[in-house]
Amino acid sequence: MRRIHYIILAIIFSSVLSCRVNYTGKIMTVTGPVEPAQMGLTLTHEHILVDFIGADSINYDRWNRDEVLKKASPFLLEAKKLGTITFIECTPAYLGRDPRLMRSISEYTGLNILTNTGYYGASRDRYIPKHAYTETADELASGWIKEWKKGIEGTGVRPGFIKISVMSGDLSDLHRKLVRAAAKIHLATGMAIASHTGPATPAFAELGVLMEEGVSPEAFIWVHAQSEKDSSAHVMAAKTGAWISFDGVDEDNVPDYVRMIKNMKDNDLLDKVLISHDAGWYKPGMPAGGEYRGYTALFLKLVPALREEGFSDSELDQLLVLNPAKAFTIEVRRSE
Ligand SMILES: [Zn+2]
Repeated sequence: MRRIHYIILAIIFSSVLSCRVNYTGKIMTVTGPVEPAQMGLTLTHEHILVDFIGADSINYDRWNRDEVLKKASPFLLEAKKLGTITFIECTPAYLGRDPRLMRSISEYTGLNILTNTGYYGASRDRYIPKHAYTETADELASGWIKEWKKGIEGTGVRPGFIKISVMSGDLSDLHRKLVRAAAKIHLATGMAIASHTGPATPAFAELGVLMEEGVSPEAFIWVHAQSEKDSSAHVMAAKTGAWISFDGVDEDNVPDYVRMIKNMKDNDLLDKVLISHDAGWYKPGMPAGGEYRGYTALFLKLVPALREEGFSDSELDQLLVLNPAKAFTIEVRRSE
């Protein structure tokens, strides 16, 4: 074979390799893959910008990226000073997800930031784009998979997880389709599925759909599980393998969080719990982005309260370092 043939073969081979986007075992941040061990202390459910204008009116002209960076950075740097290494930004597309903004804030603050793919069904479908009504679950999933393979909107920024959302009661047909699409993209990519859910009824319905699609509950993060007041439901879901996300910590609700987390510990399920604030965020359309809630209560209130309850360093490490790294590692998790 002539040398030119070798060169052509080498080019073909390397382009095949680069199309095969396999990041199994990694964490995908907005600046590229990192090892799970590099995640460190992680806030698993937060926001930097959320725009409630609705799917039919949202566009990137509604905010100025420099202004958002200027407003959000002091809060992010404060969280960094308290020990945060990785920040998981949960704002989905059509609600203000902005991959360029996330990348520049990550570069500016030095935090690992993860963004997401998927659609948000809660709030009576106000943030669902029109095409989602007519597309099948497979078609929806293939749009999201494209973001994983090629990056979001030509930015090269890849999602690090799947973010969907459902209403607090039974699943509507549309929301069932979102969950099904999430299952399909999980099987294709290994990204974890974080679903804004709230009470137990939709959580177990979602787990049912995932199981039908062959996805293990270990791929599922029950977001806003604190809305379910029956703690036995947290235990039941965690025993299936699902992640239980208590993610609305603030200055005033720490005793509730201590009780919920303690209950998981008493049931030997501390290795299934995620904790965060669901705080932030810049609000386009409001003067200077409106009021911004910082990411400090977990460090200044919750951790000391847990220590007082007898939580050890290694248990806190489990909650804030090991669990996030495990939950967000890229890995296909199939049901048996
Ligand atoms: Zn949220």
